[in-house]
Amino acid sequence: MAEIIIMPKLGFNMDEGQLVKWHKKQGDKVSKGEVLFEINTDKTTMPVEATIDGVVLKIILEEGEFAPVFTPIAVIGNQGENPDSVLADEAKVSSTEPVVEEKTEEDIKVSANTSSNSYDFDITVIGGGPGGYVAAIKAAQEGKKTCIVESTHFGGVCLNEGCIPTKTLIKTANIYEEIKEAENFAIEGLDISKVIVSMTKLQNRKNAVVNQLVNGVKGLLIGNKVTVIEGKAAFVDHHTIAVGDKKITSENFIIATGSHSFMPPFIEQEGNTNIITSKAALELDDVPKTMAIIGGGVIGIEFAYLLNKLGTEVTVLELMENILPMVDAEVASMAQKRLEKDGIKFKMGAKVKKVQDSKVIFEVKGVENHVEADVVLMAVGRTPNTEGLNAEGIGIEFDRKAIKTDLQLKTNIDNIYAIGDVNGKVMLAHTASHEGIIAVENICGKNIQMNYDQIPSCIYLEPEIACIGMTEAQAKEKYTNVKIGKFPMIGNGKSLVEGDTEGIVKVIIDGELGEILGVHMYGKHTTDMIAEIAVAMKLEATAEEIIETIHPHPTVSESIPEAFMAAFGKAIHFL
Ligand code: FAD
Ligand code: NAD
Repeated sequence: MAEIIIMPKLGFNMDEGQLVKWHKKQGDKVSKGEVLFEINTDKTTMPVEATIDGVVLKIILEEGEFAPVFTPIAVIGNQGENPDSVLADEAKVSSTEPVVEEKTEEDIKVSANTSSNSYDFDITVIGGGPGGYVAAIKAAQEGKKTCIVESTHFGGVCLNEGCIPTKTLIKTANIYEEIKEAENFAIEGLDISKVIVSMTKLQNRKNAVVNQLVNGVKGLLIGNKVTVIEGKAAFVDHHTIAVGDKKITSENFIIATGSHSFMPPFIEQEGNTNIITSKAALELDDVPKTMAIIGGGVIGIEFAYLLNKLGTEVTVLELMENILPMVDAEVASMAQKRLEKDGIKFKMGAKVKKVQDSKVIFEVKGVENHVEADVVLMAVGRTPNTEGLNAEGIGIEFDRKAIKTDLQLKTNIDNIYAIGDVNGKVMLAHTASHEGIIAVENICGKNIQMNYDQIPSCIYLEPEIACIGMTEAQAKEKYTNVKIGKFPMIGNGKSLVEGDTEGIVKVIIDGELGEILGVHMYGKHTTDMIAEIAVAMKLEATAEEIIETIHPHPTVSESIPEAFMAAFGKAIHFL
């Protein structure tokens, strides 16, 4: 079978390459692994090898010519094969441009009732965030004819206005803080009074990081031969969507349309320019003098941390008695104390009633109070994106504002799945991606379910918070014999080296079987450590098995087996 050799993409920023040298001529024999030609990117010259044994049937790009990434350069195959028909077949299936046939209402009716072979695609994914793009790549890898429709930016909230931009800004805030603390690390001669964060340069860096990742996603989709369509999709029937005036039919659909910031009805946003959401908070060109943050969940706390480090006076107003609802209360309270020490003010049990210009009016135990702030950030949760999708119109069931799915990610309509924030289960990027893979596997005939008890969650303060599974309170509600082990970071050598010994590893174990029910950590590098516990829980490892696992020294990860040992009263490095 002949193979088309394409211009490879050798980096996120590579859009095209130049063919600098051919090592073979048309008609030459070639063996798998032999160098065919060399290409020049803007950074380097790279040899490209043959991927099969055969003959160079056709050379498309000559020495010195340029070609966009993923476009054909040559065809290799058996003597006598027709390279032009191979190229023509490939062009039919792998168009990178939106190729959507115009369909009449009559066409739609016909296509909705015909066999799978008559659909435009096997799987169409609506939404190109971390749920949708991962699902589309997986579907293409499984040999499905796949299409993805995205209305705004590939990468979704995660890459464009969520995980990645927040962490890019936080990285600079952390460097700024470390510079201010340089003397603690024996660095002298820095005039701290002259050190400033340039918001313009920070925004430029954030945009560069985002663009590189977004382009990378597009490259991955195209490289995996997913048909990419830009536009907003709406259902016409169970097997048809409309994107603008085009109609696309598909045997299966995966809805991955994400979510947007929730604005409570009591907020009159219109005309009140002081109120912003996380999206606008990521675009700030100046550091506000004062900010009130409504909601002490993950978004509220990450922004409180960031802006406090950049010099804003921050007040967080939280309805409950604890910040960060998914984190064990003891761990969350440690983080809150540290944030308070850093200068962030907290109003707990605060029910916000109204925002009037710069005044946030709230009530604590029936007593009305207010805080004044230049900017008010609303961070009280997110709402699934279903507006304009016509999901209700074709009979898809909802659970409040979210699209209802079972654990296989299937909606009440057999060929339609919903993944990520839009199903409202766990609004995290890695959950969306994993759900995407499970949905595709199930469409491909497997019968697998999502396990929502084993999803790690990370909060990017310094020290970091990372947790998985039950909190102590949740475990005690469900199990009669719960063992708790705690190891404070003060007993961990690497934390002392890092200059921050605040924090704890807290493990929650079923006392009968040693099953790990939950782990909640506050400390340096903990977001990189939690995956160990995710693997352990997935493999049903016991506390003893973690204790028996050799952890490298010196690392903060040594505090994990120590915490499990502490659950049996036998921590080595703490009394
Ligand atoms: P989204 O990322 O929202 O993508 C949905 C896509 O669908 C969008 O691109 C949208 O344009 C498109 N779309 C919508 N409707 C249509 C339509 N009708 N037709 C075509 N396209 C459509 N999670 C983490 O795990 N870690 C973090 O550190 C983290 N930080 C965050 C920080 C902030 C400030 C925010 C707001 C969120 C953060 N999250 C984080 C959550 C994470 O961003 C989301 O859970 C994740 O993006 C959800 O992925 P998704 O694919 O379901 O949806
Ligand atoms: P959230 O649900 O995490 O927190 C909202 C908070 O607002 C809760 O603590 C709630 O008690 C409080 N609240 C609700 N109404 C209030 C009111 N009227 N007055 C005062 N407080 C009120 O929601 P979020 O912080 O907006 O985040 C949304 C989603 O984005 C979450 O699911 C989160 O997992 C995800 N996210 C994740 C990360 C991360 O993984 N690092 C970062 C940001 C966002």
